[in-house]
Amino acid sequence: MQQLIIEAISIISTKERKKDSSFMDLVVPSVLEKSVVNEILSRLKEINLRLRLVFDDTIQDGFKIIYDDLIVDASIESNANELESFLNKRLENSTKEDFIENLKKAIEEYRVQYSVSEVGTVINVKDGICMINGLKDCMYQEILLINKQYPAIAMNIEKYQIGAVLLDKNADIIIGDIVERTKQVASIGVSEEILGRVVDALGNPIDGKSIIKIDKYMPIEKVAPDVISRKPVDKPLLTGITAIDALIPIGRGQRELILGDRQTGKTSICIDTIINQKDKDIICVYASIGQKQSKIARIVETLKDAGAMEYTIVITSSASDSAAKQFITPYSATAIAEYFLEKGKDVLVVYDDLTKHAIAYRELSLLLRRPPGREAYPGDVFYLHSRLLERSCCLSEENGGGSITSLPIIETQAGDITSYIPTNVISITDGQIFLETDLFYKGIRPAINIGLSVSRVGSAAQTKPMKKVAGKLKVSLAQYRELEVFSQFSGEVDTKTKEILLRGQKTIELLKQKNLSPRSNVFSIVAIFVINKGIVDDVGLEYVNKFVEELFEYIGNEHTNLLEELENNHWDEEIEEALYKVCIDFKRVNHNGISETN
Ligand code: ATP
Ligand code: MG
Repeated sequence: MQQLIIEAISIISTKERKKDSSFMDLVVPSVLEKSVVNEILSRLKEINLRLRLVFDDTIQDGFKIIYDDLIVDASIESNANELESFLNKRLENSTKEDFIENLKKAIEEYRVQYSVSEVGTVINVKDGICMINGLKDCMYQEILLINKQYPAIAMNIEKYQIGAVLLDKNADIIIGDIVERTKQVASIGVSEEILGRVVDALGNPIDGKSIIKIDKYMPIEKVAPDVISRKPVDKPLLTGITAIDALIPIGRGQRELILGDRQTGKTSICIDTIINQKDKDIICVYASIGQKQSKIARIVETLKDAGAMEYTIVITSSASDSAAKQFITPYSATAIAEYFLEKGKDVLVVYDDLTKHAIAYRELSLLLRRPPGREAYPGDVFYLHSRLLERSCCLSEENGGGSITSLPIIETQAGDITSYIPTNVISITDGQIFLETDLFYKGIRPAINIGLSVSRVGSAAQTKPMKKVAGKLKVSLAQYRELEVFSQFSGEVDTKTKEILLRGQKTIELLKQKNLSPRSNVFSIVAIFVINKGIVDDVGLEYVNKFVEELFEYIGNEHTNLLEELENNHWDEEIEEALYKVCIDFKRVNHNGISETN
């Protein structure tokens, strides 16, 4: 004991000292032996410190030394856990006979250990924000423990105090409570077991199943991979939605924003994309931020029913969670994705949605008294999202070759994409898919405004056949849109214009797609091919979808070779001709039952 105290004092002596506070408190259970006290006093004299003995009956054995904001704790209470795991380890292989003997030995061998912790005190707490005195060496975004049980994240580091946000909204904290450093920036424990699970922002399971074993702690904030370790996007990430795969293609490692007003099918596009990754060796992470719990439950059910939970992780913070939890959710989701990225996997992350994330951050910032900027958001809200989305990447082969593709969602107000948060995220991402309420109510679903949607890098990753057929589609759709507006003003239109308008309408009809029914890439290719070649020009508008579905089935049954070629992304004039012939044959033989009027 005496030796232990002397050791602890030497730790204290290395600490930089304030001028007046040269008192060191030694907290002990009962009076110490005089010889021990003398020894300690002489040691303290050497380093010019004064001793204050404090007798504390809550300590049963051992001691505590408190000096400034440092606590050296060698009490039996704080050693209880250590002792337990020490004994468990030592008695692991004991038999019934030698158990008592081993236990005696182990207890004799056990040495009381001391833990050194830096502590501060709570000086103010309100609205989930804690102001803390002390903790001079605290790091930015370090996890602090208040009263040994309530975690908080240090967000404001000022000269005389620290502003920390509480993760638990209902934490029972009063002024004067002790705050300890953990010396760890916020991180999340991950392992392969997390696949198929629903977890909260800190990685704790909330699906009522067993606890998840931890293989590695991933920091929730991490610097994005540098330019040298990346490579350009070159593989497609198929969403199963024809309009997107053809016109706004997404590549693995890309960041594609999905934005639109409330209830325009934003979430549905992402869920369909997740469902479409079945058997494609892609791991999906769905991060839900500030949504209603009932909605999250419904999404988990949908994913389960579609068999998509096997390769998906759902990480959520609901609307009733603290702003701090909502704030860290997308970072935690990315940390999980990075765990799999390190293993060379392709990962898809959906952030649903970043508007609520920005609002949670605004709440925290205002409570921390940071000055409000445009739309009352703090000045660094752009940085907040850019450092998150920069972590999506496509790594070069030397670095494992994995990728993180991200689909952030932003909710707009009355279709206004020029407000602060939408413009920010538009400029960070590699393209956007803009959904419109008008289109949605007209029945054009997914309600994608093709004119305002763009993918800046995805076409490099498009498959060859898709690239060939989609190029023509873009031109004819643009022509259609132009003429559509024009024809609204003039009643009479010539036959050529009428033809373009009709073909345009059929294209729109083919691009309509129910949610939860992703199409295979080949199906989309055939559908667009049929339009481009004018094969459905004489098929009634309402029968176009049925025609293509039956045609696809026919190819699958009768022309498996051709289907195989297309599935393997082969495309040349010969295949094109063969496909054309098959379509014409199908139309001639099987198409009698379908109305052919326009
Ligand atoms: P919120 O703003 O509330 O998050 P959201 O934009 O995410 O809404 P969703 O929840 O995806 O929209 O969809 C809204 C409704 O539209 C849902 O009931 C969904 O079933 C329906 N819906 C979405 N896409 C389609 C589609 N392609 N075909 C038919 N119905 C659809
Ligand atoms: Mg939604």
